[in-house]
Amino acid sequence: MVTADRESWGAGAVCLTADPDDLFVEGAAQNQTKALCTGCPVRTECLAHALDHRIEHGVWGGTTERERRALLRRRPTVTSWRRLLETARAEHGRQSTARQEPGEGRAQAG
Ligand code: SF4
Repeated sequence: MVTADRESWGAGAVCLTADPDDLFVEGAAQNQTKALCTGCPVRTECLAHALDHRIEHGVWGGTTERERRALLRRRPTVTSWRRLLETARAEHGRQSTARQEPGEGRAQAG
């Protein structure tokens, strides 16, 4: 969930122009809100912000408050979710690139 005065990543938020009443919903309506996040280019930053600032209400980074509480319980020693998630994203990018290298790891035909 992003407002105009949020950190710089907020400028790319899909929900920036959404009605706030549609964003801070509860129960099953959260699934519709979460759908907004699916293609959001700043999803990682948004989730990290919510986790690092212990934001309890609303959908952030495609997660509900309940899902974020579960993450925080599962990883109580994380001091920077932003660093953790950015590292994970970079690693995923490296692995994806390695898988796409022509001939990399393929058996030779013939
Ligand atoms: S991930 Fe979802 S809540 Fe966060 S900025 Fe994007 S659309 Fe908004």
